[in-house]
Amino acid sequence: MKFLPTLICLFLSASLSTVPIDHLENQVKTVSSADAPALSKKIRRTQDIWIRYQDYQEIVLHRHLADPETNPKTIRSDRQAIRACSRQLERLTDAQAILEKRFQAQYRDIKPGGQANMDRVIPGDHDLPSFGGIYRKQKPASDACLLEGDEDVGEYSLSWIPYIERGTISAGTWAYPSGGMHLGMDVAAPLMSRIVAGANGLILYADDPVPSNCGYLGNYCGWPYGGGNTICMLAAVNGKLYAVSLCHLSNQILVVPGQQVHQGDLLAYSGNSGNSTGPHTHIEVIELKTDAAQAAAYFRQGADFSFGCGWDTPAACSAIGCRVRPEEVF
Ligand SMILES: [Zn+2]
Repeated sequence: MKFLPTLICLFLSASLSTVPIDHLENQVKTVSSADAPALSKKIRRTQDIWIRYQDYQEIVLHRHLADPETNPKTIRSDRQAIRACSRQLERLTDAQAILEKRFQAQYRDIKPGGQANMDRVIPGDHDLPSFGGIYRKQKPASDACLLEGDEDVGEYSLSWIPYIERGTISAGTWAYPSGGMHLGMDVAAPLMSRIVAGANGLILYADDPVPSNCGYLGNYCGWPYGGGNTICMLAAVNGKLYAVSLCHLSNQILVVPGQQVHQGDLLAYSGNSGNSTGPHTHIEVIELKTDAAQAAAYFRQGADFSFGCGWDTPAACSAIGCRVRPEEVF
């Protein structure tokens, strides 16, 4: 099967040569509002191809690095190829940003915190409309949410392990450096990084309605608003029970509501879906005052990821729990 990677490479190079980035860059400046969605889709497809090509180049590099007989020149050229992919991906991200800026007026009426213009909400499981549209699950407490079952979180873990492998904190909780409320901690990590259970627990919600990893500010798709593809789980650690939310995931979610998970189990791969400006995972933590059954009973009424704490007051408590800074918990 040695020729298989070569075939993949040939296929990818053939696809790449059919996608002139210059052309896309010129189009974003002149495209009409009616044609913007199609152009956005084209840019995303091109990004996907380049990401796959970059992945392929990384595999090749690793193979060469593992072989002591590889010529150093080969390794240098592998690295150059990877850098070239990154540059193309940056250009595509810029093109998408220009497109977004040009048509920002289209979604100026959509405010964070759930004040969406309902005429423009697309019900059900349709694909995320490309540029300028919004998407929301009409019924958050549906099949994505644990509706009934055994609320067993299993044995309590002794301590946490990181949810995101190889991630770095890119924004802390409560306030952005530029001002504005931020209720979670952002962990930047490359697209498709592994996300594992930080502790033993139970999945309350897991949904991947958003096919694309091309999030942008103002993209209020997924549930809760702008979360993109999300998971909410109960986590049991050292005698305490927490609700942990993970947002902006890729559409590779590997758990279902009602599933008991063990610390370290693979939950999903990270992404950049929804109201997100780059590949990262947004984590929110509520320390619960109740047992698992009561927390699940509250949650299943409306898939409220805030557990009654709302969305605008930091450190707010409800009858069920209190928002806490993930940085202080993990
Ligand atoms: Zn965030």
